[in-house]
Amino acid sequence: MSVASGRMFLAIPGPTTMPDQVLSAMHRPAIDIYSQEMVDLTNSLLDDLSRLFATTGRSYIYIANGHGAWEAALSNVLSRGDRVLVLESGRFAAKWGVAAGLMGAETEILPGSWQSAVSVEALEMRLRADSSHRIKAILVAQVDTASGVCNDVEAIGRAIRAAQHPALYMVDAVASLGCIPFAMDEWGIDVAVAASQKGLMTPPGLGFVAAGGRALAAHHNASLRTPYWDWSDRDSDQHYNKYGGTAPVHLLFALRRALDMIAEEGIDNVLRRHRLLAQATRHAIAAWAHKDGIGFNIKEPDQRSDTVTTITLAAPHDPNRLRDYCRDRCGVILGTGLGDIQHNTFRIAHMGHINAPMALGTLAVIETALKALKIPHGTGGTEAAISYLAEMVHA
Ligand SMILES: *Cc1c(COP(=O)(O)O)cnc(C)c1O
Repeated sequence: MSVASGRMFLAIPGPTTMPDQVLSAMHRPAIDIYSQEMVDLTNSLLDDLSRLFATTGRSYIYIANGHGAWEAALSNVLSRGDRVLVLESGRFAAKWGVAAGLMGAETEILPGSWQSAVSVEALEMRLRADSSHRIKAILVAQVDTASGVCNDVEAIGRAIRAAQHPALYMVDAVASLGCIPFAMDEWGIDVAVAASQKGLMTPPGLGFVAAGGRALAAHHNASLRTPYWDWSDRDSDQHYNKYGGTAPVHLLFALRRALDMIAEEGIDNVLRRHRLLAQATRHAIAAWAHKDGIGFNIKEPDQRSDTVTTITLAAPHDPNRLRDYCRDRCGVILGTGLGDIQHNTFRIAHMGHINAPMALGTLAVIETALKALKIPHGTGGTEAAISYLAEMVHA
């Protein structure tokens, strides 16, 4: 028996659910890539991306996913043999560091855990010990989409300044830009990366990089530069160079619509909506929490991300069995566990095009699965989410 029918609901952390308006914005012919319309479209997108990153620096759009944006960021500012310090808190910064190593940098990991945020104190100590300034760049993910942690990138920026360390501060905002606060210039971030398919509600295929003044200065001497990613080439007067070739016209139509939707709702409302729906999700999980069942992967409540929640399931319960039930019986697709915690976790994304029925429906389906599969859990999780929203969202 199944009650899944019609549209499946995708609750995975990327690609996320795309609004119908974004999908239909692509349903038109391409335009002349040498036309003024194309130039205007590009300029409007770059301006809006810089506004989202909150930088007066430059933004770049690549035909790439987040992995491509990582490589773009690294190749433009680093030289062979430069040391990069990777702040571990899950999977993504570590993978960015692996890319840096394969490209010719020397990587050092500031050890962390998959259950908590980067230790700002440990970072400051490490930087103070690096008196010869061998470390040239610091890599961190604002939200690690595997562990579900939200790192305090503002406090990390403060620690770098407190240690008076000149390393470039590089932040992966792939799973957070447009969902939770980000203030690149104010927080002392030199390079930020993002991608189209998470909070920005656009099909996969666009990677974004923002560069501040110190990064643009480092770019002049960077020896890892390669033609496709190179900022100098993209800064040319020729519009064609802005994409290193043919513009991804339809993805840009989609992105334009998505950024317009964010502007129409108002960024403050967008951030608040994410906060409320994430809190509602956490209220549900807290009510379900059981030593032989469900729990939070991130132990400190204020380190949990407002864009994705990573949930543990005690042995012998199999997260994939729960995910299969939710998908096949109820039409909700939950995120699989990743990396070190792939066998005992699953994930709920609540980023981008997410509203109350999507979030509450997902929770209600998970509660249905917990009952149907006889996984021990506290009662009233969905009810707790409802009560929270009823209290916070006034008539
Ligand atoms: C998804 C994600 C990436 C990788 O992006 P892809 O588009 O899959 O290459 C990088 N960092 C974070 C934090 C992510 O969530």
